[in-house]
Amino acid sequence: MSEIEGEQLWPDLAKELAFDLAGLAQVVTIDEDATWALSDEVGKLHSCYRGAVRLYWPPRKRSDASLHFSSTVWTASELISNDHDGKGLNRLRAALRRTLMSTAVLSIPSPVAAREIEAEVARQRISELEKRAAPDSEELAIARLYLSENEQLKRKIEQLEAELAKAAARAEAAAHSLSQLKATESDDDESEQGQVASTEPAVGETRFYKKTHSKGAYDVLVEVKGCDHTAWQNSASADKARKGLERLTGRDDWKSLLHCGTCTGGGMWKVRW
Ligand SMILES: [Zn+2]
Repeated sequence: MSEIEGEQLWPDLAKELAFDLAGLAQVVTIDEDATWALSDEVGKLHSCYRGAVRLYWPPRKRSDASLHFSSTVWTASELISNDHDGKGLNRLRAALRRTLMSTAVLSIPSPVAAREIEAEVARQRISELEKRAAPDSEELAIARLYLSENEQLKRKIEQLEAELAKAAARAEAAAHSLSQLKATESDDDESEQGQVASTEPAVGETRFYKKTHSKGAYDVLVEVKGCDHTAWQNSASADKARKGLERLTGRDDWKSLLHCGTCTGGGMWKVRW
């Protein structure tokens, strides 16, 4: 995960992720200098900067022994846009847990020894029954039948689970190839990090920005999808937002800058360019 102007997108984000993903993934925080070094190393398509969180899967070896690299990104803009109710952090944690745990579960089949022990226990029970009941009783015949059927079914299930894991891996690879293809198609200067192309705002366009944290003289802003609220108002803290907006966009020619009075956590701004 990358920092945005020296801060994590949410306090303790790295700590929470490391807690959730212990044993499944390594969580690494990189500062701004490191984001540049990382981009040089892995290329723009797999870069991680300005508050983004990127999941790097273990590289796969192609048939010619070169490495196939695959990653999934959550940009600060997406994460903050999705945080309209203050539960964005929990959603990210849940998404990462779900993704990693469901993948891990497919790659760890239950040990064959466990099934063998279960089968042995069942056989022992039957042999105890045999000592007590008449060896050719109907009950024993039924129990033996169930036992053998049970073992057959368990073997069948294991075989199907292995096939399912292979199919799921193929589906994951296909979905990834598709996203790579889409990224390549739009891979001009504006599709960095696989996020929506961020173009210069046009005259008359309305855009939304949200504060992630404050830097003393200015607020650190991220462009977001915006909210459906209607309580837009002038605000006393607009000065810091103004400076932050100038820093982010390199412009100061917006027509209006209004603050949302309803958004929890505050810091949501509507800008008319
Ligand atoms: Zn709002």
